Amino acid sequence: MQRKRALIVVDIQNDFLPGGVLAVPSGAAVIGKAAELMEGAWDAVVMTQDWHPKDHVSFAANNPGKSEGDMIMLPYGEQILWPVHCVAGTSGAAFPGRLSDRNADLIIRKGRERGIDSYSAFCAADGKTLTGLAGWLEERGITDVYVCGLATDFCVSYTAADAANAGFRTFVITDASAAIDIGGSLKAAEDTWRKLGISTVTTAEIEY
Ligand SMILES: [Zn+2]
Repeated sequence: MQRKRALIVVDIQNDFLPGGVLAVPSGAAVIGKAAELMEGAWDAVVMTQDWHPKDHVSFAANNPGKSEGDMIMLPYGEQILWPVHCVAGTSGAAFPGRLSDRNADLIIRKGRERGIDSYSAFCAADGKTLTGLAGWLEERGITDVYVCGLATDFCVSYTAADAANAGFRTFVITDASAAIDIGGSLKAAEDTWRKLGISTVTTAEIEY
């Protein structure tokens, strides 16, 4: 079988970068790596953007009496509360200037529904609301999915897990991703990858 590869660049947006409201430490280092990757010979390049309405349920400010980091219960389960971030159309939600979307075949915008958060490029946090990405990749004959971006232990990991569960051979590009690593979240993500047969690679190991 001929293998076809897709690159998914997850949530490299100003609000998740140093200076942003929800900055991933060392997030800036991944911009250059991702930009370089996007110049490679992929069969498809997908970018994602966290893209919320102002009244999104994941914002602590929209939950009276609650603070950032608190957990609330939603119909689909526990939800952690974040500062207001990546509001649709704002500069915080934009890609940084050094990361061009010129080579992107598809840009997935997630978290657009007020009441549902979304980490994965494939499916919202309710586990039911699909983005259509699995079908899009399948219809293009993609067999292998490479994931990088922010943050390794959240949106990158959830995206990789969903890719593996959808049947794609899946890789996390570690040096083009950066982690938040709160409460053992990076270790938990790595355990998930092992369980699902997800491999890790570095940008230098990828051949075109
Ligand atoms: Zn968000």
